[in-house]
Amino acid sequence: MTRSARTIAQTIITLCLALPATPAPTSASAPAKLADDEGALSAFAAIHPIDVHVHVFRTDPAFQKMLERLNLKLLDILVIDDTNPNRRQLQPQIDNGLELVRSGGGHFALCTTFDPYKFDNASFAADAIRQLDRDFAHGALAVKVWKNVGMEIKDGSGKYVMADDPKFEPIYKDIAAHGKTLMTHQAEPDVAWGPPDAADPSWSYYQENPQWYVANRPGFPLKQKILDARDHVLAQNPKLPMVGVHLGGMERDLGNIARHLDEYPNFAIDTAARMEYLMLMPPEKVSAFLIKYQDRILYGTDLDLHPDANIPHALTEWQSTYARDWKFLATSDTLTAGGRQVRGLNLPQAALQKIFRSNAIRWIPGL
Ligand SMILES: [Zn+2]
Repeated sequence: MTRSARTIAQTIITLCLALPATPAPTSASAPAKLADDEGALSAFAAIHPIDVHVHVFRTDPAFQKMLERLNLKLLDILVIDDTNPNRRQLQPQIDNGLELVRSGGGHFALCTTFDPYKFDNASFAADAIRQLDRDFAHGALAVKVWKNVGMEIKDGSGKYVMADDPKFEPIYKDIAAHGKTLMTHQAEPDVAWGPPDAADPSWSYYQENPQWYVANRPGFPLKQKILDARDHVLAQNPKLPMVGVHLGGMERDLGNIARHLDEYPNFAIDTAARMEYLMLMPPEKVSAFLIKYQDRILYGTDLDLHPDANIPHALTEWQSTYARDWKFLATSDTLTAGGRQVRGLNLPQAALQKIFRSNAIRWIPGL
């Protein structure tokens, strides 16, 4: 189960636990919730939303229908991950992503990537640039740098490779020269470096993916060092638009995000897989932040559709996530997150329009 699926499962469990112990049949709550979601989904669809952070490995007629019904456009992000069989090879993922763009009736765009595991090859940067330029020519709009830079890949001398390694610089210059956007997933939530914390929204992820839980690993880079390297890339490449995904890796510190947005005009963030952190913060603080920086925040989810996905289950997961996020940002409804009752932020329509749509178009030209 993915993080978001689990979140929904937890939410449903929490909702069920919160129900009074009446003889009412439990099945009564499910259609009520669906009907409730329908209102949120039609308001969401009316804004012609763009989700800038998904991982889609296949399509399906019912999935396509959902995209059409929601007027939804997706930015499909590629990642090379040597610990995941679906993500080990780059070219099949590129072919698959371009096929989604071609066949998806305007509902898909592609964020490609390059192979950082080839870092030690003499022709690494030149090969990466050649491949990226080909992907741009085929319509790719952005490039992803994933957390394996900073947290997994080591150079010939055994040191962790950081995002500001000079070997990456020609690649960044090439992306900027083509008017494309760099999407950076750098570091992980604080809890990956901290003591076990079952209350953290990301904790269950590390139980399923212990390779990314790095507390007590001698010599492992501190989170700050990884984010500093990312900041160095921002400073060195003022013409390169960068979207720091997952709240730019600063999921518990709105003040720190604000300082970054103030300091680097080429920096924006997405909300992917971190909306729950916002839900758990004081609502007035989150509201003020989202309103002040409404031009710099892109809506993303991190939802995925794997080759072996169960489509009905996936459709429920995708739509409940969109309904939940819409209710949180756009309404004053009460929802449950992390076992707590959370009030929706009821943001102004202009801010919603930017966060759910127009910021994506501005920061990722071509969407
Ligand atoms: Zn992702």
